[in-house]
Amino acid sequence: MGDKRAKLLDAELEIRTFGDLLYTFPYRYVDTSRFFKISEFSGEMPSVQVLGRFVGFTTEGEGLKQRLKASFYDGSRFMEVVWFSKVNFFKTAYQPGVSYVLFGKPTQFRDVWQMAHPEVNAYDATKPPQGFRGIYSIPDKLRKRGYSTRIISDLAKNLFSNARIKEVSETLPPEIIDKYSLMPLLEALMNLHFPQNPEKLQKARERMKFEELFYLQLHILRYSRERGRRIRGHVLTRIGEYFNTYYSKFIPFDLTGAQKRVLKEIRNDMRTGRQMNRLLQGDVGSGKTMVAFMTMLMAADNGFQSAIMAPTEILASQHFETIRNWGEKIGLRVELLTGSTRTKARKEIHEGLLSGEIHIIVGTHALIEDNVQFKNLGLTVIDEQHRFGVAQRAKMWKKSAVAPHVLVMTATPIPRTLAMTVYGDLDVSVIDELPPGRKPVQTYLKFDNSRMEVNQLINRELRAGRQVYIVYPLVKENPKLELKSVEEGIERVRGMFPDVKVCMVHGQMKPAEKDYQMEQFVSGAARILVATTVIEVGVNVPNASVMLIENAERFGLSQLHQLRGRVGRGADHSYCILMTKHNIAGDTRKRLGIMTETSDGFLISEADMKMRGPGDMEGTQQSGIAFNLRIANLASDGQILNVARQGAEAVLNSHPELVEAPVTGVEQYPGEELPLSPTSVAMIKNELRIRFLKTYDWSQIS
Ligand code: ADP
Ligand code: MG
Repeated sequence: MGDKRAKLLDAELEIRTFGDLLYTFPYRYVDTSRFFKISEFSGEMPSVQVLGRFVGFTTEGEGLKQRLKASFYDGSRFMEVVWFSKVNFFKTAYQPGVSYVLFGKPTQFRDVWQMAHPEVNAYDATKPPQGFRGIYSIPDKLRKRGYSTRIISDLAKNLFSNARIKEVSETLPPEIIDKYSLMPLLEALMNLHFPQNPEKLQKARERMKFEELFYLQLHILRYSRERGRRIRGHVLTRIGEYFNTYYSKFIPFDLTGAQKRVLKEIRNDMRTGRQMNRLLQGDVGSGKTMVAFMTMLMAADNGFQSAIMAPTEILASQHFETIRNWGEKIGLRVELLTGSTRTKARKEIHEGLLSGEIHIIVGTHALIEDNVQFKNLGLTVIDEQHRFGVAQRAKMWKKSAVAPHVLVMTATPIPRTLAMTVYGDLDVSVIDELPPGRKPVQTYLKFDNSRMEVNQLINRELRAGRQVYIVYPLVKENPKLELKSVEEGIERVRGMFPDVKVCMVHGQMKPAEKDYQMEQFVSGAARILVATTVIEVGVNVPNASVMLIENAERFGLSQLHQLRGRVGRGADHSYCILMTKHNIAGDTRKRLGIMTETSDGFLISEADMKMRGPGDMEGTQQSGIAFNLRIANLASDGQILNVARQGAEAVLNSHPELVEAPVTGVEQYPGEELPLSPTSVAMIKNELRIRFLKTYDWSQIS
């Protein structure tokens, strides 16, 4: 192809080589085995083909705004065909009276069906219909220059008709292909671009997904086994006085079955000499803090210090209050270290940590600063871990000569398939049971025209002595966005509820001011808290019974779930009200509908992942997992993922030496985090592939 086109393909689609082209797959397929009638067109149709004739062209507009319209008739109805560029070319390109096959997406404008820039081919009655056909994703820049999905399919067609295509070699070992009845690579590639039939397309997709997930799992498993071998953890064998005394005398409630189970899992990790690397997932309010505290008691019983790190000052101070109260009963010294800790106190804390007098330190990012050093840090707990970057988490590893045990906690439940990949190197514990007596939160979707009704509900709750959260998407008004903000909101709220004190918290406040405002609400002095999502995680005010979320359409499902988790912690009846403007569209309405239907965090996160795709899930961006999965989809390919993982496990079991050979170039990870950036994953997959295909006798794999 010419230079200009080559440059465009490189810049817009990253296609430089034949290999790039082979692996640029259609993103969907359409059925071109039949012609649709214009009279059959309906709202949400994919691209379809119609067969008919052009019956007249008209030009509209001037200069850049010029466009060409044609009337097209297929015997059932008329539709309009529109071109916005190359008007003069298209005006004379097609003859009236000749039958054409048009391929494009029907859209409706006023009452008329339209197709813009369809693919047009003269109808050839001797050619059989094509069956399934791939549609490639074509960036706007290419589209504007008149390119369509055909630019790729034509190139691919050329490539497959070249004799040297046979040189494309298999990338999975024959035994794996046999064992899982996979389609060979070349056949799969061909069917992905030009499906012979739907069944073959299905098999082709399965094979490519399998391969992608297989090498990814191989990488993850290899890595975590290698780390397990290399890194030894502190051996914490004793369950001693701290743990036993607290458990028998002071614990304020019976642990739930799930809490007990998780504590056993943790104990098993910590006494074996391996270093614990455990993810604790538990829905909002499931009691993760107590599990973390009991784990710290195990550390203390063996003479070790613990640290717990939270992403915000508000959350850190709440943890501090809670843990200090629990800890002081058995004589543990607990301190708080955040960005706003005064110099003098900070110095004392530094000394206390170094001397070992402080047993438990609670804090924010301030904990990872280099001058925070420990006598013997045995355990690091990271709350709401997805809020921390990889490098930040890694720094906590370096605080001790022997890596501390690590417990990361999250209240954003992640579907299992995603956890297996994003946290593939962590062991996962789940608290799947809420403490008894939790009251479900009634959730309503309301439009602005029900404002009066909502205010009445708030008034009723305030009169009953309850407290109310009101959350806004913005701090300040923004003329470009039609959204409500905290700063205008608080004025309105004060006007509507003049008898009660209203306080305000948002991310742009100074920490001291934020603490003060928060304290007003926690103590009950202020009855309404107007806030942004800074209160999303962890904040615990059991007396609050209403969570009103303005512009709810602007928040993600997991955010909404977290926000809702702030209520239902004490009151018999709690309410979550999602306010939106009236005209929310299909997906948004569906999303908010899920909130009103279930309070199960796992269901919500599965739904979230299905709707948004795994790359956008909270907690996945930082890990780089939004990475270059070309064809596998963690939301819907759970089954293939399971098989691929088993396959990878079998390979590692029969070839343990694979674990030991380092992969060049990417072995230096920050701390001990699993490297999952797109580049490192690509490099590792490549190297593993080459190494495994060349070096090992695959017939031995059981
Ligand atoms: P999260 O998992 O969201 O961090 P928390 O640890 O903050 O949840 O616990 C929520 C509330 O439930 C706290 O007030 C805590 O004291 C209480 N709680 C935790 N475990 C139990 C239990 N087994 N029985 C009763 N209440 C519990
Ligand atoms: Mg918590």
